[in-house]
Amino acid sequence: MTFAIISDLHSNLAALQAVFDDIDKRGVKEVFCLGDIVGYGPQPKECLDLIIDRGVVSIMGNHDHAVFYEPTNFNTGAERASYWTRQTLEDEPDKEKRNQRWSFLGRMPVRLEMGSILLVHGSPRRPVNEYIFPDDIYTNTAKISANFEKVKHLCFVGHTHVPGVFLEDPDFYGVDELEGIYPISENERAIINVGSVGQPRDQDVRSSYVVVSDGKIEFVRVEYDIEDTVDKIFTNASLDNFEGDRLRDGR
Ligand code: ZN
Repeated sequence: MTFAIISDLHSNLAALQAVFDDIDKRGVKEVFCLGDIVGYGPQPKECLDLIIDRGVVSIMGNHDHAVFYEPTNFNTGAERASYWTRQTLEDEPDKEKRNQRWSFLGRMPVRLEMGSILLVHGSPRRPVNEYIFPDDIYTNTAKISANFEKVKHLCFVGHTHVPGVFLEDPDFYGVDELEGIYPISENERAIINVGSVGQPRDQDVRSSYVVVSDGKIEFVRVEYDIEDTVDKIFTNASLDNFEGDRLRDGR
């Protein structure tokens, strides 16, 4: 079975469309999303609609949670963006559309188990909010091992916007070290970060996602019209310009 996993779209429609185009070109039919469909970016309605229309199953991210419930430990820019997103969804005049988006957000599961594969937004033990950073393999090995206790074989995460593979050792392999491919091994547990579609933070400005097939995980990067999204952020008074600047730098 072949499927794609996307994450952290952050209301960046140009990026999401480019990624779906790439997925379609590969003939991949099944797509899962690890959350943060909304937050930071300028097109929350359009991104939600695309995910809903394509029947993508999505896990709840901390920004989806923030818009539906309340922001937790958000910086000022992220908090403003989440209140603006909530207002935008609320202001939708088409009642059916409005309800469809809200009920999709409200029904997102915080974890999904498919056999020995686990899908979460943040981490296996704290699915919505915990970050697993590459540096944790040196500075917080207890966090890594506690999370591996909850992993049967493979766990896919997003949240840090930095793609790569964590092993139990503990170890972390960035996408360059892996040369874009992680070969799945039956007797090796792994936590795989798929990176971010709408706000990459690994100094590579291209959208990131993965394709899982034939015993391997392929890390894919896709170019998109960054300036289109930056423009929409700069002209939106409720979104900080920083959210546009960072797209140009991949941070
Ligand atoms: Zn995110």
